[in-house]
Amino acid sequence: MPAYDRNNIFARILRGELPCRKVHEDEFALAFHDINPLAPVHVLVIPKGEYVSQADFCAEAPAGQVVGFWRAVAKVARDLGLEPEGYRLVANHGPNGGQLVFHFHVHLFGGRPMSHRMGNMPKTDERK
Ligand code: AMP
Repeated sequence: MPAYDRNNIFARILRGELPCRKVHEDEFALAFHDINPLAPVHVLVIPKGEYVSQADFCAEAPAGQVVGFWRAVAKVARDLGLEPEGYRLVANHGPNGGQLVFHFHVHLFGGRPMSHRMGNMPKTDERK
């Protein structure tokens, strides 16, 4: 994995240097709509801190921040009304995982049934 780049897109969004369509913010996390949605609801949740990946986050972040982050993910799903019908969480890790932005983030997909092809991200043509 690369070292953390303080100028990655999500770091710049966290610092307010780039805009985002914010869904939620608290002391642990920021959630915003993905710029290229692959489902009716496609939100990214990112921790406040310099973590490249889920592995980095779990190894390096204080326990309270890890808990706070995952509680924020659950709150976002609940607040978006996704709980009753369900949703999918995805965290891409490294090149083989398809990670493009090296600031740890969780994709939250909802608003339609997801494919059972777990090895693939939802494609745009699966929106229906
Ligand atoms: P990943 O492949 O897991 O690293 O996913 C990166 C995600 O970030 C992709 O789904 C992109 O569409 C999304 N993305 C990239 N730039 C932005 C941005 N400025 N605002 C919102 N989402 C973005």
